[in-house]
Amino acid sequence: MEIIVQKFGGTSVATKALREKVAQKAIDMKKEGKYPVVVVSAIGRSGDPYATDTLIKFSNAVYEEYASRELDMIMACGEIISSVILANSIKSMGYKGVALTGYQAGIITDDNYGDAEVIRVDKTNILNLLNKDCIPVVTGFQGATESGDTTTLGRGGSDTTAAILGEALNASFIEIYTDVDGVMTADPRLVREARVIDCMGYDEVYQMAEDGAKVVHPKAVAVAKRSNIPLKVKNTLSDASGTIIHNKQSYTNPYSKNIRNEDVLTAIAHKNNIAQVNVYFEDSIEANELLMNALTNNQISIDLINFFVDKKVFTVDAKNVEKIDKILEKNKFKYSIIKNCSKITTIGHKMRGIPGIMAKIVKALSYEHIKILQTSDSHNTIACLVKDSDTQRAVNAIHREFHLSE
Ligand code: ADP
Ligand code: ASP
Ligand code: MG
Repeated sequence: MEIIVQKFGGTSVATKALREKVAQKAIDMKKEGKYPVVVVSAIGRSGDPYATDTLIKFSNAVYEEYASRELDMIMACGEIISSVILANSIKSMGYKGVALTGYQAGIITDDNYGDAEVIRVDKTNILNLLNKDCIPVVTGFQGATESGDTTTLGRGGSDTTAAILGEALNASFIEIYTDVDGVMTADPRLVREARVIDCMGYDEVYQMAEDGAKVVHPKAVAVAKRSNIPLKVKNTLSDASGTIIHNKQSYTNPYSKNIRNEDVLTAIAHKNNIAQVNVYFEDSIEANELLMNALTNNQISIDLINFFVDKKVFTVDAKNVEKIDKILEKNKFKYSIIKNCSKITTIGHKMRGIPGIMAKIVKALSYEHIKILQTSDSHNTIACLVKDSDTQRAVNAIHREFHLSE
């Protein structure tokens, strides 16, 4: 039995015509003799009646809580509606579509509401349906605890459902259908000339996703990598071949003198809603401990961390600014916060050991009069923090400098 998982994002199931297109893709697989398992996201985007953000707003209007059992229950409704509607579209086209919640599909998670981890998958239900020639249509983004409480897998988590099911069912490949032609050199909403990348290794895509490229969820890439199942990112609306993601990263000697530094970057990702925190104090065991314990005890995760003798600089998610303001105030630290920042990350597994990459990034940004607030790097990435309002110009400038559209 050759199983294929096909995941369709919210915009891919937004209209009747689109749902028929989606249903047809599953039916085509069936006609080829394969066994499709469909995963769907909630219909539409923020503002649409059954979109996840709409449901969150509705729930928060009554009781504002970032993550809770009840919030997970209401968030799960979007995907339930979507799976029923799509299963009905499949039925209307003469095939046996069957809607399943995450729980009915056997996805068991821990009870970390809002960002639950999948513990195990009981395949019985899905395999029984496949054996009866049905097309299961599973709600993305959710599972349930051992005791049956609904949980969600983190925003954008329908991709994770697809990968988890792909792994459990030993699928030949996992297709992620969305509203762009594949994984591109930058977000096409920001960069008009962004180009589709035909083939990528898991690690580069994971890095892009971690650094803000929304096109696929990092957890989905990690699960596909651990089970070595190819991921295909495709456009629901076009016949473009999309991007294939697998473990066959093209090998290039990182120290080779023949790599032009135009060729070393693969893509640029960006992440908005970041704040830079500067805390000013002379190094001492007590002050360091006071700061670090306060952050840890308040569950604040920090990034872009630079410690100097007289100041400590790091970034936090914008949603934590109020909390951090209170903590630093209460502990009588001298500090300043730059709100509305954006982290631009250039990614390329061939950049290791190549001189001149940072020089080109600095040149590209300076010629656009964009101030670099902070930087960090790894073997495969260089990240620059800029003001939010500079994001689009910054991504475009780096994209041009490295000729990524060619
Ligand atoms: P879906 O609802 O199908 O899951 P998402 O909105 O989660 O869709 O992801 C698709 C979006 O990801 C695209 O519309 C695009 O704007 C954005 N995106 C960000 N970075 C990239 C990238 N490097 N390549 C392709 N799309 C990207
Ligand atoms: N509907 C969920 C969200 O908006 C899951 C997804 O789209 O993948 O986060
Ligand atoms: Mg998504």
